Amino acid sequence: MTDRTKSWLEIPEGAPFGLHTLPYGVFSTEGEDPRVGAAVGDCVIDLAPLAAVEGLEGGHVFNQPSLNPFLALGRPAWEAVRGWLLELVTAESRRDLVEPHLVPLEATRLHMPFDVADYVDFYSCQAHAENVGKIFRPDSPSLPTAWRHLPIGYHGRSATVVPSGSEIVRPSGLRRAGDGVAFGPSTRLDIEAEVGFVVGAPSELGRPVKVGEFADHVFGVVLVNDWSARDIQAFEYVPLGPFLGKSFATSVSPWVVPLSALEHARVEPPARDPEPAGYLVDTEPWGLDIRLEVEWNGTVVSRPPFADMYWTPAQQLAHLTVNGAAVRTGELYASGTVSGTVKDECGSFLELTWNGDDPVILTDGSRRRFLEDGDAVTIRATAPGPEGLPISLGAVTGTIRPA
Ligand code: MN
Repeated sequence: MTDRTKSWLEIPEGAPFGLHTLPYGVFSTEGEDPRVGAAVGDCVIDLAPLAAVEGLEGGHVFNQPSLNPFLALGRPAWEAVRGWLLELVTAESRRDLVEPHLVPLEATRLHMPFDVADYVDFYSCQAHAENVGKIFRPDSPSLPTAWRHLPIGYHGRSATVVPSGSEIVRPSGLRRAGDGVAFGPSTRLDIEAEVGFVVGAPSELGRPVKVGEFADHVFGVVLVNDWSARDIQAFEYVPLGPFLGKSFATSVSPWVVPLSALEHARVEPPARDPEPAGYLVDTEPWGLDIRLEVEWNGTVVSRPPFADMYWTPAQQLAHLTVNGAAVRTGELYASGTVSGTVKDECGSFLELTWNGDDPVILTDGSRRRFLEDGDAVTIRATAPGPEGLPISLGAVTGTIRPA
């Protein structure tokens, strides 16, 4: 149930977003240029003309094909715009002003919401890391030595981050085949259900971002599907980590949900053992009770819980910059695959089918180990919102095309 009651705007049952998410994206309508909008109910608020009429300071940032100029403004501006938007959609007196600038969502095309400046993917879910360790390295301890000391991550490929709805072409590459090596289309194509964090305000080269400065830099959240070719990954990843098994495509949801919309979702992260180094010690709780759902060809196969993530996004940002590396506007860093401790909470099919040994039966009776051509995957999420009602984080979807 979404809060649909406190607006002059009619929010239909089952509409993608209620009143309290107010996510931002980039949309276009027939014959017009892409520009920034905010989603509410089953509509997009066309922000550029509204901001112009209202004389909103910095309002020109909405007449752009990317969120980056808005993201670069920083938290005081983000909060001011969110306050303005909330007033627009709740105050009856604003109705005549806003109504002409509402575009039905179904009449829009959604684009990549921001220019991805850099892309980092972490590995911060203990249940996932332990599962992968057991599958890929059965004779070694399941968690690598450094895992409990720092959020392990790698630099991904920003140029192949694509918007929800993009078709994913099955990648080809080298993999182990019996005693030899073979080249060809991946036979173990997989997903990774993740939450991505979008950097707004940049940081300075040489100056680490402190854990407590997370919300000054990070604007909001997208859902991420980090498509992964397990056979290519397993052959290439020692010793430098993922490369071509990951870089062919990463999908993100079209609506960026502001961190401010997730205030009611904040929870204490799990206890850490050993105590992390000083620069990683929490100053306030940035665990987030985001509940994901993975749908494979229309069957919900998993519900991964984000609240148990060992390292929070605040710690990840502190770690990413502790060596003095700077972050830029539009940078995306993803949490790592989100998995719970039981089978129907797994955020990858590698875990869900235990490397293909234990197939999943979909509602149409078909069996799956990994992705087949034509398969569609949608990742959705909700989180606690105000007044005990959940808010939606939208969805990211993709369909597999043959190599
Ligand atoms: Mn990943």
